[in-house]
Amino acid sequence: MTSSPPLSPGRSGDDRLTGAVARAYAAYGQKAGRWIEGFTRQGGAVHCRSGCVHCCDFPVRCSLAEALLTASQLSGSQLEAMRARAHEVIANAKSARSWDEYFQRHRREIGYCPLLSRETGACTAYEVRPTRCRDTFSALSADYCRVGTLENLNRREQAEYTREVRANPATDGLSHYIAPLEDLSEPVWDTAARAMRQEWGFELWGDFWVLTTLTQDAAFMSAVRGRQGTKAVRRARALGLWNDELMELA
Ligand code: SF4
Ligand code: SF4
Repeated sequence: MTSSPPLSPGRSGDDRLTGAVARAYAAYGQKAGRWIEGFTRQGGAVHCRSGCVHCCDFPVRCSLAEALLTASQLSGSQLEAMRARAHEVIANAKSARSWDEYFQRHRREIGYCPLLSRETGACTAYEVRPTRCRDTFSALSADYCRVGTLENLNRREQAEYTREVRANPATDGLSHYIAPLEDLSEPVWDTAARAMRQEWGFELWGDFWVLTTLTQDAAFMSAVRGRQGTKAVRRARALGLWNDELMELA
C-alpha cells in the first residue's frame, strides 16, 4: 500500500486535513494520467469525455475530510442545493427496502448532482470533487453508464456486454469500469482516514451531499473538532442528516 503524504504542522486542523486530501488528489491525478497515457498508447480506450454526465447521478460515498474540502470551495447557492439534496438522500435511504431500491431511486428520481451544470455538462466543483468522482472511468461506451441501459439489456445484448467486459484488460471482468484506475485511488482513501484519525480521533464516512451539508453546521463541526464523534452523530441525527445505512463513524 502506498504511504500517505505527511501532514504539515503549524496550520489549523481543518487546513492540515484538507491540505492532505488535496495533495492526495493531485498525486492520484498524476498517477491516473500516466496510467491512461500508457493504456491508450497500447491501443486501449477510455470513453470518458468532458460533458459526459451519466455517472453524475450515482450515489457518492466519501469521507468527512473530502466533504470539508468540497464545502470550502462552494458558494452559498451551491451549499443550499447540496442541503436540499442531502435531505432527499436521507429520505430515500429511510424508505428504501434494499440497497438496489435505494440505488435505482437515487439515479432515476433524485437524479443528477446539483453541482453538475445543466448548461455545459461540467462539474462546477471539479477541483474539489470527491475521490469517487475522480476514479470512475469507463472502458466501454458511455451508453453503458446511462441509467437503465444495463438493467434493460436483452439476453443477446447481455451476452455481448459480458463478452466485451471480459475481453477488455482494463476491467475486473464484471463491469465496464476501469479497475486499475479505481485501485490507484486507494492512497487517497488512506490519506483521508489517517488525517481524520489524527485531527479528530475518529473516521466519519458517508454520503457526499449529507457530509458536505453537515460541515456547515457549527455544532456538528464543534463536536468533530473537539474529537467527540458520538456527539457529532447525535447532532447529525437531530438535524435529520444521519442514516445508519449510509453513514459510518469508525
Ligand atoms: S464513467 Fe461513463 S458517464 Fe462517467 S464520464 Fe466516463 S463514460 Fe461518461
Ligand atoms: S461532484 Fe461533480 S463529478 Fe461528482 S457527481 Fe457532482 S457534478 Fe458529478
